Amino acid sequence: MTVTASGPLPSRPYDVAVVGAGVVGCAIARRLAHHPALRVALVEAQDDVGQGTSKANTAILHTGFDAVPGSLEARLVREGARELAAYAAESGIPVERVGALLVAWDEEQLATLPRLAEKAGRNEYHDTRVLGPADLYAREPHLGPGALGALHVPGESIICPWTTTLAYATQAVLSGVDLHLDSPVTHAGHADGVHRLNTPRGPLYARRLVNAAGLHADTLDRSLGHDDFTVTPRRGQLVVHDKFARALVRHILLPVPTALGKGVLVAPTVHGNVLLGPTAEDLDDKRATDSTAEGLRALREQGRRILPALLEEEVTAVYAGLRAATGHDDYRIAAHPDQGYVTVGGIRSTGLTASLAIAAHVTALLAGTGLDLGPHRPPAPVRMPSLGEAFPRPHQRPGLVAADPEYGTLVCHCERVSRGEIRDALAGPIPPRSLDGLRRRTRVRSGRCQGFYCGAAVRELFEEDQK
Ligand SMILES: Cc1cc2nc3c(=O)[nH]c(=O)nc-3n(C[C@H](O)[C@H](O)[C@H](O)COP(=O)(O)OP(=O)(O)OC[C@H]3O[C@@H](n4cnc5c(N)ncnc54)[C@H](O)[C@@H]3O)c2cc1C
Repeated sequence: MTVTASGPLPSRPYDVAVVGAGVVGCAIARRLAHHPALRVALVEAQDDVGQGTSKANTAILHTGFDAVPGSLEARLVREGARELAAYAAESGIPVERVGALLVAWDEEQLATLPRLAEKAGRNEYHDTRVLGPADLYAREPHLGPGALGALHVPGESIICPWTTTLAYATQAVLSGVDLHLDSPVTHAGHADGVHRLNTPRGPLYARRLVNAAGLHADTLDRSLGHDDFTVTPRRGQLVVHDKFARALVRHILLPVPTALGKGVLVAPTVHGNVLLGPTAEDLDDKRATDSTAEGLRALREQGRRILPALLEEEVTAVYAGLRAATGHDDYRIAAHPDQGYVTVGGIRSTGLTASLAIAAHVTALLAGTGLDLGPHRPPAPVRMPSLGEAFPRPHQRPGLVAADPEYGTLVCHCERVSRGEIRDALAGPIPPRSLDGLRRRTRVRSGRCQGFYCGAAVRELFEEDQK
């Protein structure tokens, strides 16, 4: 088991290097770990997995009902959703199948609903149903006035995006993948059948290369002489409402999509909060993950119509993520067999859902470049700590607390995180290197006080561990 964040990188060439440890790169590394004969490196610029777009999305496990029929994305979302639902059950990733309602607010939108149901059918999703206003308000009594009907999509679910990425990475690392953090690839070159990846920690060599660099996939692609797409970051700002708001909403409330995108939604989270967002702003800066007064004002205006009572509830946090938009309507996944290289670009707004299917697709493309995968042996299952509000947390399990009282000693009272969970995260196979990393593993400091109460205690535990 190897996780490194400093020092020179191994000089022996790997069979495969995957650049980018977001949800997509981690899924690919995990998939390659099904072939124990392969030596695989997962190379990440930042100090943790899942620090890019994968940590800041809307956390919906889509059915793919509204994808472009016949596209690669439609197939991978459909297959990925099924696979991830099964994987989540096996590995303890919290998922709640709350269903979605696409709410029609005028006659034109109402007329669109049957067409959306028909499109869902073309995407092999046949469970949608058009609801009239009485049915809709019975399901969502706090919905704003004036809705004319909705399309019910019962299969849409909410999921923990942090645990998903971490589960893939953990399983990959425990199965022999080398994870190299703090290793930004500044240039990639290919000569004599070997890729040379330059990083500040020195070069890393690999016979096959997978580019899963998210927002920076276009830059890496150009290093290797391709000019297939340009990533334009599309910012999505979101507002996280307090847990008291959770009782206001039962489903994911979606607008009827327009040419401009999926629009602003109100959705519960598996952590027991309510999300409002995201915006869709095309920007030039791939680091522009700030929230803006204008963006938040626009969200509040839309939220007021969807769920007026939500605006009376406290806001716990705001955040923003950047979609890797490319101007194309589909993923930009391409194999370049002569270079032993696969680009995984343009994974815009469905990559969490599709991640496992993308990984299978990329593995098949790698085999198509002549890579001998060797024998297939599924990695040992992992069981992740449950961060879901709908499932018993450690402090709620008397047997566990009796056996190990640290699970009964709460450190973060807003999110009910025990000392035992913090201890376990710090000792995990991929330990956090920052308080933010600890938050994504435990929920600590992510509640309504945002660490005001527990911050010092959490920092002390973290710093004690780093000594
Ligand atoms: C607002 C918003 C809402 C969304 N909602 C949903 C949703 O509800 N459901 C869903 O399925 N999807 C959703 N998505 C999409 C989903 O989050 C993305 O498709 C997914 O996270 C992309 O994962 P990734 O691994 O490709 O990219 P990232 O998570 O960005 O990972 C790429 C990684 O590559 C690293 N990297 C980049 N360059 C280099 C380099 N040169 N060297 C080394 N490492 C490098 C980065 O540091 C990063 O960690 C949403 C996205 C946004 C922004």
